[in-house]
Amino acid sequence: MQIPFENRYVTLGEGFFDRTSPTPVKKPELIEFNYALASELGIATDQASALAADVFSGNRLPEGAEPLAMAYAGHQFAHFVPQLGDGRALLLGEVTGLDGARYDIHLKGTGRTFFSRNGDGRSALGPVLREYLVSEAMNVLKVPTTRALAAVTTGEPVARERLLPGGVITRVASSFVRVGTFQYFAAREDYDAVRLLADYVIEKNYPQLADSKNPYVAFLQAVMERQAALIAQWMQSGFIHGVMNTDNMSIAGETIDYGPCAFMDAYDHDQVFSSIDRQGRYAYSNQPSIGLWNLTRLAETLLPLFDEDPQAAVNAAQQVLQGYAESYASHWLAGMQAKCGLTACRHIKNQEDKALVEDLLDLMDESHADFSLTFYHLSRLADQPSEQDKNLHALFADHARVDDWLTRWRQRLRLEAQSNQARQEAMQAVNPVYIPRNHQIEAAIRAAEDQGDFSVFHELHAVLQNPYLQQEGKEKYMQAPEPEEVV
Ligand code: AMP
Ligand code: MG
Repeated sequence: MQIPFENRYVTLGEGFFDRTSPTPVKKPELIEFNYALASELGIATDQASALAADVFSGNRLPEGAEPLAMAYAGHQFAHFVPQLGDGRALLLGEVTGLDGARYDIHLKGTGRTFFSRNGDGRSALGPVLREYLVSEAMNVLKVPTTRALAAVTTGEPVARERLLPGGVITRVASSFVRVGTFQYFAAREDYDAVRLLADYVIEKNYPQLADSKNPYVAFLQAVMERQAALIAQWMQSGFIHGVMNTDNMSIAGETIDYGPCAFMDAYDHDQVFSSIDRQGRYAYSNQPSIGLWNLTRLAETLLPLFDEDPQAAVNAAQQVLQGYAESYASHWLAGMQAKCGLTACRHIKNQEDKALVEDLLDLMDESHADFSLTFYHLSRLADQPSEQDKNLHALFADHARVDDWLTRWRQRLRLEAQSNQARQEAMQAVNPVYIPRNHQIEAAIRAAEDQGDFSVFHELHAVLQNPYLQQEGKEKYMQAPEPEEVV
C-alpha cells in the first residue's frame, strides 16, 4: 500500500518521542476501511482491501512509515502528570492531503511503548468500534474531529475486567499535538523545545500566523478561537467528551480521544458520562469552562515565548484568554439560533434570542426531554400552531409551558424574512435525525464482541453517514432508549 509520507515530527529530535514499532498481532482482520478518507489523503487504495488488515494492525509497516510514540504530559482531573505519552498508540507518519493540508496517521492499540507504564498497550474491540462510529458521525455533523481510517480485530484477547477481543483503530488528525505536549516540555523548563514545538505546529496547522507580529500570541489566540468554536458545537450537539484532560485537548481544535464520550439522550445540564468522573468535572455544562481552564494551561507553557518581560507575557496571555468567554458565547448563540430557525435580524437583540433558547433548554432540563428529538420535532413545526405540535408535547411533562414557549418562538419567527418552508429546511439541515446514540453503539459492540457479528456496526455506521436524511426503515435509530436500554 502506497502512503505518501512526509514525516516532520521526527525531525524535532529525540526528546519529542520514542521510536517504536507496532507489536505484531496474531490474526488481523479488517472490520472497516474508509476508502473516501484514504483517497483524500492520497493513499493508493487499489490493493487496500488485501493489505489494510496487515498495515492497519501494525503487522506490516508501509514504506516511508517512521512509527513513534509521542511524548506528552497532562492534567488528569486537574492533577498534573509530567509524563504520559502514547502508551498504546503510535504516530505512523504524516501525509499531505489532496487539500494541501498536512495530516497525522496514528494507530491505537498497537502494543506497549516507552510510555505504557503498567498498561498493555492494547485496545479492546469495543472502544475501537465506538471511536470509529462516533468520530465519523461527528465528521458528517460538521464538528471538527479526528477521523477514522481503519478498524481491525487483532485475533488476540485483551485482559480488562474480563477477556475481550482486541482491536486497533487508525485515526487521522490535523495534529496529535496536545496541550499536554507543550506541558511536557514546559514542566522540564525546556523552552527551546517549547519553541520548536510551537514553530512546528504553526507551520503545519496555522501557517497564516507565521508572519504575525508575535506568532506565539497569535497561536494562542487561534487555538483559543478554535476551541471556543469546537466546544460550542459539542454543546449544540448534546455531546459530552467525558475526559477533557489537557492531554486530550488537541492544539488543532479537533475533537480527540473518544473515550467515555456520549451524545445525550435525555437532556440534563449536568449530565456526566465517565464513571471515573465522580466530581462531575467534565459534566456537559462544565465543558465551556474546562475549555478555558485547559487553554490557560497552554498559555502558561508559552509565556516565555510571548515576551522576555514576565509581566508583559502574562498581560498578553490574559488579553487572549479574556476573549474566550465572548468567542464561545457568540459561537454558541449563532449555532443555537440556527437550530431554532432564527437568523440574525435587525429588530431583535441577541440577548432576546439567547433568553428564548435558554428557556427552551430549561424546559428540556426539567422534563429530561430527548435532546435530538426536541430539535428534530421543532424543525418540523409550522409557524402557526398545528396538530404536529403534539410531537413536541410528547417529550415534555408540562404541555402548557411548551405552548407558552412556542407562542414566543412563533412571535419571533414573524420577524424572519425567510419563508416558513425555507426556515424548516434550514433547521433540518442543522438538526440531525440520527446521532450516535449510546444504546445503539452498545448494541453494535455487543453483537461484535459476543457473536463476532459486525452487521449491526455496519448498519449503524451507514445510517449515521446521512444524519440529516430521514431514512426509510431506520426509525429505531432515531429513538431515545427505553429505560432498560439506557447504558
Ligand atoms: P487516555 O485515557 O486514553 O487519554 O490515556 C491516558 C494515558 O494512559 C495515555 O498516556 C495513554 O497512552 C495511557 N494508556 C491508556 N490505556 C493504556 C493501555 N492499555 N496501555 C498503555 N497505556 C495506556
Ligand atoms: Mg488520551
